[in-house]
Order: sequence, then structure tokens, then C-alpha cells
Amino acid sequence: MNLMVKARGLIHDYVSRDEDGNIEGKIRAIDGVDLDIRPGQFIAVLGHNGSGKSTLAKHLNALLNPTEGTVLIDGKDTTDESELWNIRQEAGMIFQNPDNQIIGQIVEEDVGFGPENIGVPTKEIWERVEESLRAVGMYKYRSKSPNRLSGGQKQRVSIAGVIAMHPKCIIMDEPTAMLDPSGRKEVIRAARALNDVEKITIILITHYMEEAIYADRVFVMDHGRIALSGTPREVFSNVEKMQELHLDVPYVTLLAHQLGRSGLKLPEGILNKEELKEALQSAVPSAFIGE
Ligand code: ADP
Ligand code: MG
Repeated sequence: MNLMVKARGLIHDYVSRDEDGNIEGKIRAIDGVDLDIRPGQFIAVLGHNGSGKSTLAKHLNALLNPTEGTVLIDGKDTTDESELWNIRQEAGMIFQNPDNQIIGQIVEEDVGFGPENIGVPTKEIWERVEESLRAVGMYKYRSKSPNRLSGGQKQRVSIAGVIAMHPKCIIMDEPTAMLDPSGRKEVIRAARALNDVEKITIILITHYMEEAIYADRVFVMDHGRIALSGTPREVFSNVEKMQELHLDVPYVTLLAHQLGRSGLKLPEGILNKEELKEALQSAVPSAFIGE
């Protein structure tokens, strides 16, 4: 089976030119990235602003081509023009601002645009629209105007639009950045369900650490490179390294780490309240009065 994503030695330079076309400046946004993502994985990509996350995302959808190196999406080279539409259909993309992604006047019409554009027969379009809206829990809003939806609901409609293309992979570039806490939860829940139930590969770029704890694997970017990778527990065990990279760790992870530094014997990489409670229970059993 092909890897969903295989990048080797990926380099991306943004080149700026003056009026005569002479090179004025060059920014190396991706600086030698190797990446293996297997079908069905849930991947989180973290990194401070300007670390190259969006540039990387655009390579996974063939919106950009490598300056050097190669990117294969399900075995297809992103520089192969004849595979462009296959790559874009297989690897859908969700951006930050839901308002820029919705074009239809009615929810179901919006979700149907993609399949219609690639010539899916009408009857099948309606089947895809229904299944996609159900998959993100937005079916009951199918005849509403997108304008009347919350940010989280709009983002779920955008995701339905991508699902209607029957992708193998969805790349989400900070899909929750403009949402309130409940909208963020809705979108993450939808993304996890698509991964669990439909086995769609999810690549979630986020700066909310709590959204990364469910991932199979986390990649942390810094200056266009992958500075840290591993399971969420492995990555978040490196509290100091994460801080050097100007990133947080989840709140409970930090709390456990600080308690550890003040002398309490707790493991690193605690990811949620339950794990913290268990660790505390074995570290200071006398503090618990039974349940
Ligand atoms: P992130 O998504 O992690 O914030 P980006 O991939 O957007 O990072 O940016 C990586 C680097 O590339 C930054 O230094 C940014 O300023 C630069 N950059 C991004 N897009 C462009 C562009 N279209 N033209 C020139 N430089 C860009
Ligand atoms: Mg970005």
C-alpha cells in the first residue's frame, strides 16, 4: 500500500523579484523535510507563526511545487501535471476562515458544488451531499442559508464539502483558529469521527495543544524543519524543548511537570485530568480519601 504522504528532502523557497524580474530576496520556508504519513493516521502539526506549517500544507495538496525534493501523495508526484486533479480530489484542504470557503446560498447546494464540478451524476451528488452532511452532524441544517450558521457550523459545512469529493485525506490548516471554544470542539469532534469511522487520514495543523493530544503522531515545526516528532506523550514530555520552540504543552501536562520539578514524583507527558489524578494517587495516596 502507498503511503498517504511521502516527502523527501522537501525544500520550499519563496522568491521575490523586482520589476525587471531579478531576484530580490529569498525566504526558505521549508528546509529539508522528510515526512511519512500512513493511510488512516490522525496527524497533528504544531509550530509557532512562520515556522512553515501552511507552506507544508500547500505542498500536500499540490498548491505549491517543491523548490527541491519530492512530495508523493498516495504515490502520485505533486509535480506531475496529469495527476493534479487526482491529487486534489484525494487530498482535500480546509482553511482557517470558513467564510471564504462557503459559496452556496444553501448548505446542501454548497456541499454539492465539488462533486458537480467533477461531473458526478446528479443522483449520486445528492447521495454524497446527504452522507457528507450526516458525517459532520449538519444534515438537519441542509436547507439553511450558511450565513445564519455559527463559525463551527460553517466550518463543518466546509468539511462536508470536502468529504463529498470522497477524499482519502483531509488537510486542515488551523480550522479552529477563528472559532469560539464550542465551535472548536465541534470541528475537532467531526475530524476525529471522520478518522475513526470513515478511516480518512487527517492532517490537523493547529496551535491549540489540546487538539493534538488525540493524534497518532505529532510533528512540531520550527524554521521550516521538523524539530520534534512522536506520539503526543513523547512530544509533550519535552516541556522545556517545547518552550524553546515558543510552544505550550497542554495545561495538565505543564501542571504535572511543574509539580514534578517541585519535588513530587510524577511521570512526564501526562495528557489529561484522569492521568494526572492517577499519578497523584500513587504519588501521594494519603491525600485521597477514597471514593
Ligand atoms: P506558518 O503557517 O507556520 O505560520 P508559513 O508557511 O505561512 O508559516 O510561512 C513560512 C515562512 O514563509 C514565513 O517566513 C513567511 O513569512 C513566509 N511566507 C509565507 N507565505 C509567503 C509568500 N506567499 N511569499 C513570501 N513569503 C511567504
Ligand atoms: Mg499558517
